[in-house]
Amino acid sequence: MKTIVQKFGGTSLENGEIRQMALEKIIDAIKEGYSPVVVVSAMGRNGSPYATDTLKSLIALNHKPENNKNLDLLLSCGEIISAVVLSDLLDNAGYPACALTGWQAGILTDDHFGEADIISIDKDLLMSYLEQGIIPVVTGFQGITLHREITTLGRGGSDTTAVALAVALKAATAEIFTDVDGIMTADPRVVPQASMLSEIHYDEVFQLADQGAKVIHPRAVEIARQNGMPLRIRNTRSNHPGTLISSQRQQFETLYRRNSPQELLTAITHKDNLVQFILHSHGDPVAESNLFDEMASSGISIDMINFSVEQKAFVVDAYTSEKLQDLLIERGFTHDIHPNVSKVTIIGNRINGIPGVMATVVRTLTKESIPLLQSSDSHATISCLVSSEKAVKAVKALHREFGLDHSSHR
Ligand code: ADP
Ligand code: MG
Repeated sequence: MKTIVQKFGGTSLENGEIRQMALEKIIDAIKEGYSPVVVVSAMGRNGSPYATDTLKSLIALNHKPENNKNLDLLLSCGEIISAVVLSDLLDNAGYPACALTGWQAGILTDDHFGEADIISIDKDLLMSYLEQGIIPVVTGFQGITLHREITTLGRGGSDTTAVALAVALKAATAEIFTDVDGIMTADPRVVPQASMLSEIHYDEVFQLADQGAKVIHPRAVEIARQNGMPLRIRNTRSNHPGTLISSQRQQFETLYRRNSPQELLTAITHKDNLVQFILHSHGDPVAESNLFDEMASSGISIDMINFSVEQKAFVVDAYTSEKLQDLLIERGFTHDIHPNVSKVTIIGNRINGIPGVMATVVRTLTKESIPLLQSSDSHATISCLVSSEKAVKAVKALHREFGLDHSSHR
């Protein structure tokens, strides 16, 4: 049996017309000889009656852990509705199908409510449906703990469900259907000149997703990479072949790479709602070290870390910034804060070791009068901290300068 997992995001299910297109993608796979396993998100985006955010707004929560359990139970309902509706469509079109919740599909998770991790998948029930020629339509984004509590996997969690099921079922591939033709060199809503990428390496798309592009969930990419599961991002509304995510692109580049400055980058993204902190030295290394321990234990995660003897600069998510400020005042640390900053990240497996990339970044930002507040880099990324009001301008300028705009792209 040739299995394929096909995941449909919220915008691919929001009305009858688009659900019909989703149905056709499933029928296409059957005609190609595949046994599909379908994974669905909740219908539509915020404002749609059954979207995750709409369900969330139905209850007022305080921060007791018991309420997180209730919230997960509530949020799991959106995907159940989608699964039943799509399964019914398939049945009526003459393709026997059955809607299954995450727990019926055997998805066991840990008990981090709202952000649970999949521990294992018992695929017996899914396999028995497939063997009977019945299409399982599985709710994404959810699972169950050992103590029979319903959990959700966090924003974008249906991508993770799809990839984890594909790995468990040894599927040929997982197709992630959404509202764009595939992965592009930037979010087309931010950069209208963004170009389509026919292929991208796991590492690059992981960085892209992790640094702000929500086209696929980073955890889904991680699971696919660890298991060598090829993924394809496709548009429910078009017949575009989409973007293949695999490890092939890098092999190709390693063999044939040429260092044309126009071909160094793969994509650009940005992340908003960050706050930059600059701590001035306390003169007491033990107190400083204790401070970072305390930050970690209170769930304050820091990024773009840049430490010197005189000062320590780093960035936190805006929602943890107040807590951090209170802690710094309590411990007597003098500090400066820059709220409303964004991290702009350029990504490309080929930038490693190539001289002049940072120089191009700095020249581009200078030409656009965008102050560079801080920078960091890894083997395949360079990130720049800029004020949020300049972030889109920075993304567009870098996109153009590195030759990624549609007209200039290879
Ligand atoms: P779904 O509901 O199908 O999961 P998402 O909203 O999670 O859809 O992801 C699709 C969106 O990702 C697109 O509408 C697009 O705006 C956004 N996006 C961000 N960065 C990129 C990128 N580099 N390429 C393509 N889409 C991107
Ligand atoms: Mg998504």
